[in-house]
Order: sequence, then structure tokens, then C-alpha cells
Amino acid sequence: MSDMSASGVLVCTACGSRYDMMDSRWQCRCGGLLDLCFEAGFLPDALKDRQATLWRYREAIPIGHSAHIYSLGEGFTPLLEITVAGKKVWVKQEQFAPTGSFKDRGAAVLINHVKALGIERIVEDSSGNAGAAIAAYCANMEIQCDIYVPDSTSRGKLAQIESYGATLHKIRGSRDDTAAAVLEAAEKYYYASHVWNPFFFHGVKTFAFEVWEQLGGQVPDTLVLPVGNGSLLLGAFMGFKELSAAGLSSRMPRIIGVQAAGCAPLVKSFKENLAEIPAISPQKTVAEGIAIAQPRRGKQLMDAVKQTNGEFLAVSEDEIKSALKKMHRQGFYIEPTSAVAIAGLEKYLLQSPQPKDEKIISLFTGHGLKAGAKML
Ligand SMILES: *Cc1c(COP(=O)(O)O)cnc(C)c1O
Ligand SMILES: [Zn+2]
Repeated sequence: MSDMSASGVLVCTACGSRYDMMDSRWQCRCGGLLDLCFEAGFLPDALKDRQATLWRYREAIPIGHSAHIYSLGEGFTPLLEITVAGKKVWVKQEQFAPTGSFKDRGAAVLINHVKALGIERIVEDSSGNAGAAIAAYCANMEIQCDIYVPDSTSRGKLAQIESYGATLHKIRGSRDDTAAAVLEAAEKYYYASHVWNPFFFHGVKTFAFEVWEQLGGQVPDTLVLPVGNGSLLLGAFMGFKELSAAGLSSRMPRIIGVQAAGCAPLVKSFKENLAEIPAISPQKTVAEGIAIAQPRRGKQLMDAVKQTNGEFLAVSEDEIKSALKKMHRQGFYIEPTSAVAIAGLEKYLLQSPQPKDEKIISLFTGHGLKAGAKML
């Protein structure tokens, strides 16, 4: 493999301050969100000889050393064609990831970066899947971790996090209350956040590279995704951008972000063309993985979707449950949050006239086995 002296710059989205990529901060001095500017490299001809993990895109991943990479075999999930609302769509099977959700992409890259920084203890908050992913990679790299979750989180996810050896903190209240609780701990320990920490997105972006590769070097017309904090949406957006920048594709897919109607601040902002992400009072939803009332990167999410000429859609609890059941009855055992994308896909296919050859991609974000009790 080529020399890995990757260089990137952390840039504040609020004040523009810049920091070296190896500066161990997750937030700007001013409190702003950091992005990581990094020029992704690609070696398309080398791919056929590489292992079926996301590290086949090593030149595009900002880990600043060429030493050992820790891996649980994440990435390169199958892309299957299935039928939704009478139309063929491609669905990437992200529930096959080592811990059962796409969050492994972000966690693998972020925790390898944490290891490279020499950090020995981290904190993270999650509705379950991100916590499980971070806990698994910390276990693999012998890093101590504390995971904060809402006390309503699926028991399967709680058991999984504890099994990896993480210290679990169950917080009463909403997902946003959990996010507030972890910020206190983050004053003392490195915050390996899938929302704040830009390295996470540089792992999730490999989703886009694989879609491109699995479609024979093509980018789809449309991408339908569930959205809460937007780690998936922003990661996928970044990945497709990097493919364009490298000259490997000449366009972006339209991105359709789907939220549960009971907690849909992005849909509201989009439909009413608001300059800000509005405060909403969230209702209970079966989609526990995306029940985010205040997405920190809301403005970036709006910009990304508008840039691709996409949209945000809301689906009801009944629509989510019905899509979930349909997938289960086809043999795909996904969790309720994953069905949000499928319900959104059904809505999208029914409401807009389809060009006959439109190539649509979606994904199953998380495995049903962790949330079994909630689906009875
Ligand atoms: C995290 C997650 C999502 C997407 O959430 P974002 O916060 O928008 O990244 C979707 N489905 C499942 C199962 C998840 O765990
Ligand atoms: Zn700043």
C-alpha cells in the first residue's frame, strides 16, 4: 500500500479556526462543530485484490499512520435487489455489520483514530447502536469507554454494550437528555461522538464508495435514508462528493431523508422553508434510533439535501409498522428504525412520477435481533 502520511485539517464550522488533524479535540475552542478537510485518494484498479472490508478504501480514510489497523471485518455488505411498492430497488444490507448496524463504519474509523492519538478512555452517548459500535471497537483496541443511553433503550442493545465491557449509564428522559448528560463527562474524557466527531463521518462515507463499486462504477439516481442526527446522511453525502471530486462519477444522487412523523424537525424545516431547525415537542415513536428533536448538524443536513435537489419526508407510526412487517415477511429481520427508510421509499414511489430507469438505493440500517422484544 502507498504511504499513509495522511494530512487533514480540522476546521470549525462556526468561526473558521483550524487545527491539525492529530490535535485531540472534538470541538472548537469557541464551542463550534468541527469538520475534517481531507483529500481522499482512490486506487480503483487495486480494489479487486483487496479484502472485502471498508479498508479496501484505505487511501480515502484519514488515519495518520501506516501501522496496524484494527478491524472487526466491517464494510462491504451485500447490495440486494428487492421489490418495494412494485418497483425494484437496491438495498444495502448494513444489518450484517459486526455489531449489527451501519454505525460500525464510523466507529471503526473513529476508534482507530482515537488509538492513534494514544487516548485511553472515551465517552459516547447513543440510542443504542452507536454505543454498541463504539463499545465493540474500544474492546478490540483496549480503550476504556463509558456509554450514555436513554433508559428506554432496547434491552438487547444494553446487554450488547455491557458485554463488550463498556460502563453503561442509563439516563432517564429523552435521547436529548442523554446527550446533555454526556457533555459533562466529555469535559474530562475524549468525546467519541458520532455527531460531533468528524472522524465518524469519514468512516460512514465508505457506504457511498461501496455502492458505487457494487453498481459497476456508477452512482444511483436516488438515495433514500432514515435520518435522526444525520451521521448516515452526511456520511453518504460526503462519500458521493469525494467520488465526484476524484473524477470517478459526474453527478450526485438525489438524497431523500426520512423521519418518523412524531419527531421530524428536519421535515418541518424543509417543508416550511425555515432558516433554522425549529424546536419541536417529540412524540413517542417505534423508531428509537432516530428520535432526535435537536440534530446538532441540522443546518449541514438541510444544505446537503438541497444541494442534491432532494427532500425530507415524514412517515407515520402505522406506515413504519406496516413496512417493518412487510420486510419481516420477506425474511429481512430488521429493527423498527430501519423500516423508516422502507416506509419512506413506499411513500416516495407512490407520490412522484418515476422515470422508468430510475436507479434507487436504500439500506437496512440495523439488525432486528437486538430489538426483538420491542417487535412482539
Ligand atoms: C443511527 C441509526 C440510524 C440513523 O441515524 P442518524 O442519527 O441519522 O445517523 C438509522 N437506523 C438505525 C438502526 C440507527 O441505529
Ligand atoms: Zn470555532
